[in-house]
Amino acid sequence: MNSDEFRKSGHALVDWIADYLEHSDRYPVLSRVKPRDIVDALPAHAPDDPEPFETIMRDFERVLVPGLTHWNHPGFMAYFAITGSAPGVLADFLSAALNQQAMLWRTSPAATELEEVTLGWLRRLIGLPDAFEGVIYDTASIATMHAMVAAREAAIAGVRAKGLAGRDVPRIAVYCSDQTHSSIDKAVIAIGLGHDSLRKIPTDDSFSMRVDALEQAIARDRADGVLPIAVVPTVGTTSTTSIDPVPAIADVCAREAIWMHVDAAYGGVAAMLPSHRHVLDGADRADSLVVNPHKWLFTPFDLSAFYSRRMDVVRAAFALTPEYLQTSEAGSVKNLMDTGVQLGRRFRSLKLWMILRSYGANAIRARLADHMRLAQELASWVDAHPDFQRLAPTPFSVVCFRWHPKRLSLPESALDAANERIIDLVNASGDIFISHTRLRGRLTIRVAIGHLRTTDAHVRRVWDLVQQSTQELNPPR
Ligand code: PLP
Repeated sequence: MNSDEFRKSGHALVDWIADYLEHSDRYPVLSRVKPRDIVDALPAHAPDDPEPFETIMRDFERVLVPGLTHWNHPGFMAYFAITGSAPGVLADFLSAALNQQAMLWRTSPAATELEEVTLGWLRRLIGLPDAFEGVIYDTASIATMHAMVAAREAAIAGVRAKGLAGRDVPRIAVYCSDQTHSSIDKAVIAIGLGHDSLRKIPTDDSFSMRVDALEQAIARDRADGVLPIAVVPTVGTTSTTSIDPVPAIADVCAREAIWMHVDAAYGGVAAMLPSHRHVLDGADRADSLVVNPHKWLFTPFDLSAFYSRRMDVVRAAFALTPEYLQTSEAGSVKNLMDTGVQLGRRFRSLKLWMILRSYGANAIRARLADHMRLAQELASWVDAHPDFQRLAPTPFSVVCFRWHPKRLSLPESALDAANERIIDLVNASGDIFISHTRLRGRLTIRVAIGHLRTTDAHVRRVWDLVQQSTQELNPPR
């Protein structure tokens, strides 16, 4: 592709993207293709000869676009609603062109230093002290795995050299709540602690970790000769967005000398708002924390910000420089490859930098506040309706509820089936996509508000669709 062709195709592509960002709601938010439709529509072999970009784009529109579930659609309210915002899209375009690989400071001084600057901005915006050093990983799952490696490094002498097996190392325990994201399960599996090392501490009526139960579990483990190495409280759990009591958990961790890793992947950015600063209370005492700009900070997937007050421990676990990567400046600069498994790393900070500058903190705060207002509004409609029941508090922008007409005294299994059907009917509309969770055994409708362009009208539409869907239920309403 010569530069004239690039210019022509690039301009057409930017037009396509601009149109998409403005009108993504012209597509069904949840893809309607069937499994294998995409594979069957494409040739099994790569072409031998060049194809014009227009032809490739035609196939993109014909074959791939129908197979997209539109995360960038304002009616996307499943899982956590996210946004690939325009400044972030431009930054990723530019980043691909620059193709920076910031393993060493010298392989990209700009990417290395912009990461420090941008994560410093984000750290101050959410009110974390300067003692926290940041590094960008792709996802919170990977950030949490690195936190567990650091906790293991801090707790077990010689683990980097000798590993865990075949020597005198006690059994290990990591603590989280029964609401914690599955990434912590995967982290303990991946780093060789074993899934059985994870203790899921029960939660209270608000789905927050019970500190008394945590203390009992740690005491039980110590009495059994098990070594507690980490506690992972969450600010904004995946199902209900509940907040664990981080200050009290920090007290326990300090007393017991256990690593505290705060999973603030979703909820952490709310601390940008003076009204929600408190959601990160106690996080200043964490050993590490993760917050995901790719969740609720309008950043195209993927960009997860990992902070630690003990990055020296992370480096002790991971720094390793083969001869061919030695540099004369190594002692005076940061080499980002030292802070994790990954060697090559792309220029992710560029998009966060462009987003923070393009919108400014005030507009971002206003948008987050608006999402929380919309969630409160939906929660109030649920609460006011005699046939619906809210199943969890709504501290951020996710509402958990179910259809539960008391007058019909339906068994739990029928309620589960009915609520599952409601979700399917809402999703069949094409303009809204919601998902479910299960709370205390109950199938729960979960509406997550978080897209930049989601408005009152979209939230009203969800509520209308949910109510209309109940008319089609068997048994009838
Ligand atoms: N932590 C929480 C609370 C989450 O909700 C999620 C994903 O939804 C994760 C961690 C994992 O995020 P990622 O997809 O960035 O690995």
